Amino acid sequence: MFTILNKDFKKSNYTVFFFLLYNVVNMDIREQIINLKKEKNAVILAHCYQNAEIDDVADFVGDSLYLSQQAAKSDADIIVFAGVTFMAQTAKIISPDKKVLIPTLDCGCDMADMINLAQLREFKSKYPNIPVVCYINSTAEVKSECDICCTSSNAVKIVESLNSDKVLFLPDQYLGKWVEAQLSGVKVITYDGCCPIHNKVSANDVKVAKSLHPNAKVLTHPECKSEVTLLSDYVGSTTGIMKYVANNPQEDEFIIVTEKGVVDRLRRDYAGKKFYLIKEDMICPSMKTNRLEDILKALTDEKYEVTLDSEISQKALGCIERMLQVSQ
Ligand code: SF4
Repeated sequence: MFTILNKDFKKSNYTVFFFLLYNVVNMDIREQIINLKKEKNAVILAHCYQNAEIDDVADFVGDSLYLSQQAAKSDADIIVFAGVTFMAQTAKIISPDKKVLIPTLDCGCDMADMINLAQLREFKSKYPNIPVVCYINSTAEVKSECDICCTSSNAVKIVESLNSDKVLFLPDQYLGKWVEAQLSGVKVITYDGCCPIHNKVSANDVKVAKSLHPNAKVLTHPECKSEVTLLSDYVGSTTGIMKYVANNPQEDEFIIVTEKGVVDRLRRDYAGKKFYLIKEDMICPSMKTNRLEDILKALTDEKYEVTLDSEISQKALGCIERMLQVSQ
């Protein structure tokens, strides 16, 4: 008995020791990052799906629309983008004179990679003379040949702004279908891409979660299948989901149908409320590659720098600027 207690005591002491060590090391890294930011006139933009430790050093944390607006306003010389590649490309397109860095190279978005320029051209040739809307989750090359960009926050507004009875929408078929359901008299012709993370959720998953938590509101990202959004109390972007929680203080329980990072943030910000992640594996691996060490290395070595062909960048800028004008 004594040996067991002694072992447990040692184990818990080791745990406390490593926890303290981890915090001391991280504190040191955080300080170095903050000093380097000042020294190099740099800002850090972080998507809300990133590991929460990045928040401590980020200047702005939010969804794609918010971060693209911050990139546009920033007067920093260097932007470190903790997100996925297309987001850093967007920052570079908006701010061609700034040095835009991504801390790790292994951070592509599977949805954005579902359509390339050749596939876009083929899609457009099947439906000529129809305005083309691309979700911000697309490469710079794809944006360069689309009429206007959108995010999940403003997709309905953007499609509506085109005043067209038909619109091509890519790459996410589910966001496109959801937009069509919000508007009357607009046919949204979708490309067949999707987000592999949000696509994991089925209507049955939502039904099971609701039966386990009957008082919880279901808050869902529009990248989910239509059968899932139809069963939800609220459908919106990551920022929209967080605002829904903030604006409904009378609600105490929520089933969250999007990436785990959103649940982590909600649990941290609303300790008294209950948040149920729809499935434990709602984790985007590309979004979780960045650690504090990578941010420090990016600032120290000034890499990995995002570079784009100037003609593609110029054309893609038109596509993004049209979106920013409509979303103002
Ligand atoms: S969650 Fe989906 S859409 Fe978002 S970055 Fe990951 S793969 Fe792309």
